[in-house]
Amino acid sequence: MQSFDAIVIGAGFSGISQLYQLRQLGLSVKLFEKAADVGGVWYWNQWPNATSDTPSEVYRFSWDKEDLLTYPWPTHVLPQKETQAYMNHVVERHNLRPHMQFSSELKSAAFDNSDSKWTIQFSSGETYKTTYLVLATGRFNKIAFPSIPGKEKFAGEQYHTGRWNEHRDLKGKRVGLIGTGSSGAALLVGLAKEVKQLVSFQRSAQYVIPNNNSPVSAEYRDNVNKNYDEFFKNVRGCGVGSGFAPVPADYTTFSVSEEERERVFEAAWNHVWGLAFTFDTFSDIMTNEAANRELVKYFRKKITQIVKDPVKRDKLLPPPETLYDKRPVCSSGYYEAFNQDNVDIVNYKKTPWVAITEKGIQTTEKEYELDVIIYATGYESDGTWADIDITGPDGTKLSEHWAEGSTSYLGLVKAGFPNLFFVIGPQSSLANIPQHSQFHGEMIVKLISKAEQMKKEEAAAANKNNTVLIDATQQAEDDWVKLCNAVIQQTVYYGGGSYFFSDYNTPRKPKSGRHVLWFMGGFDKYVEKVEEAVGAYRGFTFVH
Ligand code: NAP
Repeated sequence: MQSFDAIVIGAGFSGISQLYQLRQLGLSVKLFEKAADVGGVWYWNQWPNATSDTPSEVYRFSWDKEDLLTYPWPTHVLPQKETQAYMNHVVERHNLRPHMQFSSELKSAAFDNSDSKWTIQFSSGETYKTTYLVLATGRFNKIAFPSIPGKEKFAGEQYHTGRWNEHRDLKGKRVGLIGTGSSGAALLVGLAKEVKQLVSFQRSAQYVIPNNNSPVSAEYRDNVNKNYDEFFKNVRGCGVGSGFAPVPADYTTFSVSEEERERVFEAAWNHVWGLAFTFDTFSDIMTNEAANRELVKYFRKKITQIVKDPVKRDKLLPPPETLYDKRPVCSSGYYEAFNQDNVDIVNYKKTPWVAITEKGIQTTEKEYELDVIIYATGYESDGTWADIDITGPDGTKLSEHWAEGSTSYLGLVKAGFPNLFFVIGPQSSLANIPQHSQFHGEMIVKLISKAEQMKKEEAAAANKNNTVLIDATQQAEDDWVKLCNAVIQQTVYYGGGSYFFSDYNTPRKPKSGRHVLWFMGGFDKYVEKVEEAVGAYRGFTFVH
């Protein structure tokens, strides 16, 4: 059986960065990917208007300065095609493709006590051994469908945004679009102009923020190039890993006049990055409910001004008590699209669907005849690892440990599963993915370097070459999860129904109540804590 020092699963940003960094360490590494090419979530989401919402200059790796200074990023946020092209570019530039194998889905991984290695099996039946196993499988990959009866009866086409890896021509068609999260809101704008009729089926009205994307000017690019080190330093000091300068702690919502507040919100509305509301307005916007309500007042005024039809407007306005407590949904032109006659909105809570029929979607009010139904209903919040069968050294399965929701130490490792690493695993930070995955790569490399050094020293002293097992203590993991729960409770996110919690969009309901899946204290604080713990190897064990 072929054996590697490390096997990486997944060829998105996380897997590419991990493959690159582990190869720099001199290990034999192979990456396996289920899809037919690189891209990860950006391979599977090629629907019209799929766009990132992170500043382009930092939506990339920072280890290759020469490339950073020359590689083009034509707009302030990047369309899917540009992002996937960048990933391909990195893979080619660093000659990573020969170390990648596509169309290979991980089926199981079992720790073999006889040689202290992982035995990895793929859907093709191929089996490999590895000392280190890195799951760079992303946080959004198990797509979720609503349970509506009759799905199989529909005579037209049905697509999910999370499995859209080819061009689909929907010009002139009647389309029903279920879901109004980041994917649904952006796709709606992408389709509104080209389809004959578009009906948005909305469960919860969202506050959708414009991303005022525009071409990058030569002066802007020049400034970034001159200050690249500064830009990337700011990434690690920013709450979302995107380079926003921290808002001074005393610049709070009620520390300014009403006029100033309005001016700040208006600037954020016109900002090139929709994330500005959360990270570039007031320091207490996500921690003080009264402050958050001021923002909500502003959003409601904007929606009311933009949407002309009072019936549509009424459906698009969230109930007044709804806080801005989810991951920001950014899409320019969203509310404006509803001013088009061919775009309509159905509120699921007011007129629930009854069934999918041969012709379309039947609600309690009427039957909508459709050619295409699109599910923009996202992913099972804790579903990423659900279909992978992982067995640890004591014979227990990871799924047994995670029946109540996934847990880890620092988002990197799971106690009792040695030499198994996650890139952006459970309870890691919600932040700019390329930069977060690069950071995780650095931390994993640090841990593996120590293990490899110990192995070398032992080999020299005792003429043995035993694998060193890197693990976390259960106490360290429990304390980290406890901290993540305490942190989210200090924010408005705690009240919201979202994929921040393991009970969202999933049939697997934890009995013990809400279980948080992210560290919501900001990427800056996260980096500080993880660097400090990994730097001192605190909470980790290294055993021969
Ligand atoms: P999502 O944020 O989970 O949104 C899912 C949508 O489907 C929500 O509107 C949800 O309604 C609705 N929904 C789910 N289950 C439903 C059901 N059973 N019946 C009716 N409606 C249902 O998924 P997503 O939009 O695909 O986004 C996934 C992740 O990717 C998020 O982190 C998102 O921010 C990210 N993303 C980012 C970008 C970007 O960077 N620009 C683009 C796309 C996606 P409720 O609101 O009522 O739950």
